[in-house]
Amino acid sequence: MTPPSKLALVPFLSVEGMMKLVLSRGIERVLRELAEAIEEDFRRWPAFDKTPRIASHSPVGVIELMPTSDGALYGFKYVNGHPKNMKEGLQTVTAFGLLAEVATGYPVLLSEMTILTALRTAATSAMAARALAPKNPRAMAIIGNGAQAEFQALAFKAICGIEEVRLYDIDPAATRKCARNLATSGLTLTQCTSAEEAILGAQILTTVTADKQYATILTDNMVGAGVHINAVGGDCPGKTELHRDILTRSSIFVEYPPQTRVEGEIQQLDPDHPVTELWQVLSGAAPGRTDPRQITLFDSVGFAIEDFSALRYVHGAIQGTGLAQMLDMIADPDDPRDLYGMLLRAGAKAAA
Ligand code: NAD
Repeated sequence: MTPPSKLALVPFLSVEGMMKLVLSRGIERVLRELAEAIEEDFRRWPAFDKTPRIASHSPVGVIELMPTSDGALYGFKYVNGHPKNMKEGLQTVTAFGLLAEVATGYPVLLSEMTILTALRTAATSAMAARALAPKNPRAMAIIGNGAQAEFQALAFKAICGIEEVRLYDIDPAATRKCARNLATSGLTLTQCTSAEEAILGAQILTTVTADKQYATILTDNMVGAGVHINAVGGDCPGKTELHRDILTRSSIFVEYPPQTRVEGEIQQLDPDHPVTELWQVLSGAAPGRTDPRQITLFDSVGFAIEDFSALRYVHGAIQGTGLAQMLDMIADPDDPRDLYGMLLRAGAKAAA
């Protein structure tokens, strides 16, 4: 590990730096590598400190802190969720995060995480689907064509081999934007005018809408046997996307039950309704899909370990690239006890 004096300047990956990183490696490669990093950490789940995220709710949205540690590294993400922002020309979700060395407590990376959250959410969804969805899925419906949608489409292409994406949004402009952005992706794109049309022939149903309420994006009669549902948009108390009857017919897989029971689709169910933790499927401790007619549901809310894995991945990927700026954010006096003396000397230097 780097000695503390070298850690006093903290690498910072800006939005521009993140875009350069993704464009230079190629987004599908980044999504695959992220899924690998996340799966690696899910397989060693017991090694992590885990806590539900710390949420500060307001009538218009939520601001959250998501910390975790594996004993060697510590990470946290700051993230908001404000469904009304989009109408004001602002992002619904923005984020940044920090990775630190447990041995010294010194930060080793500060990074933008708005783009990284979209990448890690999509990589996690596709990682879960690879374990749970029917074999060789060909088509996926994406209901909700906002900021997250293209990332979801590309992750399912890169990781699950999806060939067709069927798009629907209550705002046709969002669907057009999504189709335009994915035009050269190699995916077959079908723009739909209803959720019912979007799910036709799809083996995977992704819901990724934003609304601060109990919404019903999918009703029970829309969901046939054997599909995999990737429910991404319901990630807050009072915010869901699926009718309760779908949940009672599904085998439900979650990230961290103490958080998902409060934030996920399963907030509609009894607190002891059986769910399987995704890490157990990935580590071989629990079965995933056991029957071709089974409905599997990944009730995604986003968990701190995914952000930790994403930061860990970015920290490795930027080494030697020159993409990070070095930030002077840790006071580093020559004599660690003489913090005030450092201030005095700076004052004397400024006055000279
Ligand atoms: P966004 O505001 O950019 O896009 C949401 C889209 O949903 C909009 O285009 C809107 O028109 C559409 N929509 C709303 N109601 C709809 C309905 N009834 N039917 C069809 N479309 C509808 O938001 P985003 O950044 O894409 O995020 C979407 C959701 O995903 C948010 O709720 C966000 O909190 C959640 N999210 C979850 C995770 C996770 O890890 N699970 C991570 C990131 C974001």
